Amino acid sequence: MPDSAAPDRPNLYDFSREELGSLIASWEFEPYRASQLWEWLYVHKVAQFDAMSSLPVALRDQLAVDTRLGSLELVQTVHSSDGETRKFALRLPDDQIVETVLMRYEGVRRTACLSTQAGCAMGCVFCATGQMGFARDLSAGEIVEQALIVARALEAQGERLSNIVLMGMGEPFHNYDNTLKAIRRLTDPDGLSIGQRRIAVSTVGLVPAIRRFAKEGLQVRLAISLHAATDEERSALLPVNRRYPLADLLDAVRDYVAQTGRRVTFEWTLIEGENDTPEQAHALGALLKGLLCHVNVIPLNPTAGYPGAPSGPGRVARFVEVLEDYGIPATVRMRRGIDVSAGCGQLKADIVKPPPGRAKGQESPSSQPYPSSG
Ligand code: SAH
Ligand code: SF4
Repeated sequence: MPDSAAPDRPNLYDFSREELGSLIASWEFEPYRASQLWEWLYVHKVAQFDAMSSLPVALRDQLAVDTRLGSLELVQTVHSSDGETRKFALRLPDDQIVETVLMRYEGVRRTACLSTQAGCAMGCVFCATGQMGFARDLSAGEIVEQALIVARALEAQGERLSNIVLMGMGEPFHNYDNTLKAIRRLTDPDGLSIGQRRIAVSTVGLVPAIRRFAKEGLQVRLAISLHAATDEERSALLPVNRRYPLADLLDAVRDYVAQTGRRVTFEWTLIEGENDTPEQAHALGALLKGLLCHVNVIPLNPTAGYPGAPSGPGRVARFVEVLEDYGIPATVRMRRGIDVSAGCGQLKADIVKPPPGRAKGQESPSSQPYPSSG
């Protein structure tokens, strides 16, 4: 359990392997103790110092006095009625709340959707997190600990965490350094060892960060939230488009594909009458034609702060057909977690301020906005 009485102690999940080594050396324990500690953290994934049975009691005591084993406190778990989606609300030491989602798919794919910030500064109009505004960046350790919480929950039922999407609350590329640190920690072959290709990061379209990401030499998948194919329409939904308009964004994405040889995913949240017409699908087709890409279309999750509604099945199907005429593969993402406030930031919105007249279990049908890849 995280020790919320001691928020000032350094969080062990924020330490790199080298930093753990220095810490252990500074207390004059043998260097191999650092490797053992690393294994307790990321291979055995224990949640208590007491469980680190191969470490001397003196070291465990020192760790308990001078550090903290994580900083996230589970405040609520909500299961979807079909049992395939579970949403965790987690409290940070400064009382911020972030959300992590576990999605089970057929077969062995078990995906954790992690948050990278408390709130978000990007202000996308249809997003519950955007409607909250920005509180703060999560540290690398706070991002990684979310994966550990999901992995522990899965292991308790004999399953394993296989995939990660950085598509929860916040804009990962607005917290670039901590996000990259977390990705490297999650993929460390001597730790959690999640394959790079089983991780996807989604960005609202921060152009300089996309260009930087292309040079990281990672096999991690990249998703871009597009939602509109003209600057006027996109700026109305995603204010960040005024800073990084479509031409600049598409240039960066083309360069990313050329540099990495990797396919990108575009996300398109379908809002009835707003961005779901055949004309808009044609505009998208023309914009993306010839680019190595895939489009995920996801009917909108209605949120308290935005009046839009999800597109109906007929309009969704027509949209996808038009894209296919352009040779652009498109997938309609399944509606997941209909009854768990599955939208980005929606559970926190419910916890902090329950919307009037909307009791638990009566949420309007909502789709899972976390397209999985892999
Ligand atoms: N900040 C990043 C990642 C988190 S949001 C980004 O914007 O890409 C993950 C995805 O959910 C994005 O594509 C986002 O546009 C989408 N999304 C946010 N709110 C939604 C909602 N209410 N309904 C459907 N999709 C939503
Ligand atoms: Fe932030 Fe992504 Fe929500 Fe936009 S959609 S407000 S970038 S979390």
